[in-house]
Amino acid sequence: MYIKFLGSGTSHGVPIVGCNCPTCISDNPQNKRYRAAVHLKYRDNSILIDTPPELRLQLLENQITRVDAILFTHPHADHIMGFDDIRAINRLQKGEIPCYGNEITIDKIKNIFDYIFNPIQIGGGLPRVKLIEIQPLVPFYLSDIKITPLPVKHGKLDILGYKIGKFAYLTDCNQIPDSTLSLLEDVKLLVLDALRFKTHPTHFNIEQALQIINKLNVDRAFLTHISHHLEHEKTNRILPDNVKLAYDGLSFTLKEGEK
Ligand SMILES: [Zn+2]
Ligand SMILES: [Zn+2]
Ligand SMILES: [Zn+2]
Repeated sequence: MYIKFLGSGTSHGVPIVGCNCPTCISDNPQNKRYRAAVHLKYRDNSILIDTPPELRLQLLENQITRVDAILFTHPHADHIMGFDDIRAINRLQKGEIPCYGNEITIDKIKNIFDYIFNPIQIGGGLPRVKLIEIQPLVPFYLSDIKITPLPVKHGKLDILGYKIGKFAYLTDCNQIPDSTLSLLEDVKLLVLDALRFKTHPTHFNIEQALQIINKLNVDRAFLTHISHHLEHEKTNRILPDNVKLAYDGLSFTLKEGEK
């Protein structure tokens, strides 16, 4: 499985408009963060997790011209506002793109993008998608790939992470239920939310993320959904060897595990 970060930033992105903090004015490209998403290539399938506001740029910069499925974590703006950009992929490939999400995500996408699902006029170009509601902890298959939706708490919101083989992606969370923790036991590569050093009502901070990672048996973990409070180099220096901040463009390959 090939995994690439298309974005690793929190909802504001980094740099933040008008901010002059050391991270925001840094020349280091690893301090420039689009909103969070990843691209997976696995057994000839191309899968996106979330469609952030920069999706067009993310597709262009990473030469992604095929998408077989989109997995949505939750319907906050920083995770769905690039939805319309899927038209570019529709132009290149035939058929609808299946989009998976929990009930609230599917409902919100239908409401927010009403013009797609209740078109009032012909033409104008609409994404061709098929919304598919999935249940937490109930695996589904994309050809022969088993995908398990992992329930996590994002403040009061029940949202989804995803487990595919020995990889798991958990963005936007500040609590992980035991049902999800037990499914993470055989995960080798974990991506986990870590917003900043200070605590936050809907996101893990660095310390909380490290506590979760320490409980698990992962070989490596990358922290994502990163705010401007975390300068890349400075933060990485204090993290354990097997845990690092993600950055846009970071990619890694995970050997084939279970289906
Ligand atoms: Zn977010
Ligand atoms: Zn800043
Ligand atoms: Zn969110």
